[in-house]
Amino acid sequence: MRTPFIVGNWKMNLTLEEAKSFLDQITNKLPDSNQVECAIAASPIFLETLTKYCENSPLKSSAENCFYKDKGAYTGEVSPYALSEMGVNYVMLGHSERRKYFNETNRTVNKKVKAVLQNHMIPIICCDETMTKQKNDDHMDWVVNPVAESLNGVSSRDAQNVVIGYEPSWAIGTGKSASVSETQEACCLIRKTIAELYDEKVANQVRILYGGSVNDKNVQELMQQKDVDGVLAGTASLKPKEFLKIVNYSK
Ligand code: PGA
Repeated sequence: MRTPFIVGNWKMNLTLEEAKSFLDQITNKLPDSNQVECAIAASPIFLETLTKYCENSPLKSSAENCFYKDKGAYTGEVSPYALSEMGVNYVMLGHSERRKYFNETNRTVNKKVKAVLQNHMIPIICCDETMTKQKNDDHMDWVVNPVAESLNGVSSRDAQNVVIGYEPSWAIGTGKSASVSETQEACCLIRKTIAELYDEKVANQVRILYGGSVNDKNVQELMQQKDVDGVLAGTASLKPKEFLKIVNYSK
């Protein structure tokens, strides 16, 4: 019912030439987007190139962040309006690296979620567990707040299109992924939280992804979990062959 969704997050890696070479190697090898949808999240300096490649491919484009105002005196920020005008499809928000190095909070993420939706793009809302985990031994408690606060004031019509990422930050870039059962448990709890905030129909529409050291070895087992609809791959999204394997194993 929910189309699997694979997102590669390039972060602040690759040069323009490397980015083009990656896209040359994958864009005509991707499966049809009703089998599995794929997106690359890239820095703003690559988005114009990325969106051009996406025009002739099932690949979708994503920004890695944006600001919550469309325009104004905000030096160095990225306008969601300009992203939308460029043809960008998704915007990743609240990644744990944004929270850790740039002090992003659920409140800021919520403002950005609304700005992205207003500009007709889809937010990929990443939920990080560290803050709550430090305060509370029950690591499953953490999901409720980020999900509820990020979606505060978002209508159910908009909420059914958002994508949520379960991203335990201790698993990001460390080579240590969360166990399959832990991942299913967290993704199921996220879906229950959405059902409580909205209803079952919305909860069944929302795609929930797992992120944290995903590779071509662990993706199949993760994708077999009932509430895991896709993955966010960082390190593995820098290697075209591995990224294609992840995509094909997720069909
Ligand atoms: P990783 O990054 O695959 O390198 O762990 C994942 C992410 O940041 O989403």
